Amino acid sequence: MNDGTVLGPLLRAPDGALSLDAPLDLLGYQRDCSALRPGRATQVVRPRDGAQIAAVLREASAARVPIYVRGGGTMYAGGVNPVAGGVVLDLGGLDRIVDIDADRGVVVVEPGVRFGTLAQTLTPLGLTIGIIPSTAPTATIGGAAAAHALGTGSARFQSFADEVVGLEVVLADGTLLRTGSAAAQDAGFFHRYGIGPDLSGLVLGGDATLGVITKIALWLHPLPAARRTACYGFADPGAASAFVTELQRGELLEHVWYGSGYEAATIRARVGAARPALDPAGLPGFCIGLDFGGEPDDLARAEARTLALARQHGGDAFPLFDEIYFERLRGDQIYWYSFAGYFARSRCGILMASLPTARMPDFLDVLAGCRASRPALTWGGAVVLCRRGLHGGVMAFYDEATQWDEVLAALQDCAGALRAAGCIPYKCGKQWAAEVSRMAPYHATLRRLKAALDPAGILSPGNLGL
Ligand SMILES: Cc1cc2nc3c(=O)[nH]c(=O)nc-3n(C[C@H](O)[C@H](O)[C@H](O)COP(=O)(O)OP(=O)(O)OC[C@H]3O[C@@H](n4cnc5c(N)ncnc54)[C@H](O)[C@@H]3O)c2cc1C
Repeated sequence: MNDGTVLGPLLRAPDGALSLDAPLDLLGYQRDCSALRPGRATQVVRPRDGAQIAAVLREASAARVPIYVRGGGTMYAGGVNPVAGGVVLDLGGLDRIVDIDADRGVVVVEPGVRFGTLAQTLTPLGLTIGIIPSTAPTATIGGAAAAHALGTGSARFQSFADEVVGLEVVLADGTLLRTGSAAAQDAGFFHRYGIGPDLSGLVLGGDATLGVITKIALWLHPLPAARRTACYGFADPGAASAFVTELQRGELLEHVWYGSGYEAATIRARVGAARPALDPAGLPGFCIGLDFGGEPDDLARAEARTLALARQHGGDAFPLFDEIYFERLRGDQIYWYSFAGYFARSRCGILMASLPTARMPDFLDVLAGCRASRPALTWGGAVVLCRRGLHGGVMAFYDEATQWDEVLAALQDCAGALRAAGCIPYKCGKQWAAEVSRMAPYHATLRRLKAALDPAGILSPGNLGL
């Protein structure tokens, strides 16, 4: 394979597509927001439509040139890092909202549309796509589909992929594939299932290893009329996970748009910073924060029911944390966290895992183990509530000038420990490649699909261990 060490462009860019190969222009395309090592592309092509992407992929397959696909570059798994050199396809030019069909309840967008832009368009119509990541201002819909997004909406709708009606995808040989109902000529996007196997699943979460997404159809939902937040403190994570299990089992999260859990270290740090005079001895050992959305009457009922359930599990309302942390995040549903906060020390390595709710104490034990074994790094963690199960995030803040090797080794150890604790990779990219490669029948099947759909192996070498 051409490894990108030659100088100058590798591919003839299609008419109308921008091509960059000056070293300075390539600088911004070396890495995403992960701690993983950058790569060095030889060329960037910025296409405008699926036909131009098909032309690039045909030529790249013939010349065996690696192709890395870039949306907003906000992922923390290194999927866009061009470690094998070659060409970065910058999808920022495919940024049209193609159709908003309120009758079908579907919006169709190109992959380079940013969440923030889509939300600005849908909000005046009283609509939302449900799942919105905290990086909404810069993250693209295509990146979210290819990297399994979560976030606001997960407590109600689960994962971004669950909200996909169908896709348009360009395969490595230039074939333009439509999935769901749109596979049938002239049917358009209105149903995900019904024809046969669901081919959307080939590329959702695929980190651009099997195809490039060029259109995405998503279900539309009414925006909640009102929102309010509440926090519940528990003595320990075991009591909190029993409480969340019951919320999920009884489907009591129907009015919750976002939910997350914070361990003792986070609680103490946040409260300590905001109220230095307060005695930390009385603070809870774990906290669950919920953002309710819906009609005002429904919200009042849902909140009262949730508080009663928390008390049954030994917990209680924790208004202080709601006020100093959770409530500040409310309102602007497209921008949950302070993005810059993640990079306060220099940078932050993030590892995201999915887990059954009852495993939350095990997940937190892994985090405690990371803290104990690598005290030079600053560790943080949180869980995001889904309709079923949880997503757990481990964050390692590090100084890139002096601790880059250490954080990479720490995240690799942490990935192994999480797997041993029954958690599974979420958002794989290159970060989880070693762990995914261990899942023998799953990975062997992925490799067979890869060999069939991308025989020259041009698409995102290294992602998912492929
Ligand atoms: C501080 C911080 C907070 C975050 N919070 C959240 C959060 O709340 N929820 C969440 O889900 N994520 C979160 N993320 C991760 C990330 O922002 C999201 O997953 C986002 O949706 C990724 O979109 P992107 O456009 O930046 O993708 P990129 O980083 O550009 O790409 C991600 C992957 O998708 C592939 N890809 C991109 N476009 C396409 C395409 N059209 N076809 C095929 N493959 C493609 C890339 O090759 C890469 O493998 C966070 C990241 C950071 C740094």
